[in-house]
Amino acid sequence: MGRAAPGRPVVGVLAVQGAFVEHERALRAAGAEPRQVRVPAQLEGLHGLVIPGGESTTFGLVAERSGLLDALRRLMAEGPPPILATCAGMIMLAADTTGGPQPLVGGLDITVRRNAFGRQAASFEAPVEMARIPGPPLPGVFIRAPWIERAGPGVEVLARHGGHAVAARQGEVMVTAFHPELTDDGRLHAWLVDRARERRRHDDEGSSIGGARVRAQ
Ligand code: GLN
Repeated sequence: MGRAAPGRPVVGVLAVQGAFVEHERALRAAGAEPRQVRVPAQLEGLHGLVIPGGESTTFGLVAERSGLLDALRRLMAEGPPPILATCAGMIMLAADTTGGPQPLVGGLDITVRRNAFGRQAASFEAPVEMARIPGPPLPGVFIRAPWIERAGPGVEVLARHGGHAVAARQGEVMVTAFHPELTDDGRLHAWLVDRARERRRHDDEGSSIGGARVRAQ
């Protein structure tokens, strides 16, 4: 694990399962240095994090075994770096799901309904207008997507499809039910990388106080 190139924030991509390679490509295009995260130690010193889509039950089981689930729970409790979590990633961060218990990270005050759009419309594309993302609607790729059934008072719903909440933000954590990494539209990754760059600037300033660098990587 080398030190990041100057100025480039290091953004982790959970590489347990699912569409992580596409996220790495989008992060690189937005000016970040992606780092695959498979074990808890790889969460150290990140300036941002992506939790990709996939299958949340598989993700939960694998991450539970590797200790990542607990490490992510601690991260969420201690104040996470900027995060973009998509589809199954959004499910992992939810406080709960309507479909019964499964291992989750939690930390976001939302309840999600998995596979919410039903069998007939299991996978589809639709334009998504999103608050805080200026410009034309985003191309929304929905693949057996969840929706947000409940959002707590600290959560800002950013987008809806068919009346259902499909994107939200709580502080520096953004979740979407759709897959921006499967499109050429880099605005959500740019949103994350902008914040990760801020985080890096803040960390670099903090770690050089007194001449000592606290992060060893
Ligand atoms: N249906 C999946 C789940 O419940 C999510 C699908 C996705 O990430 N594209 O975990």
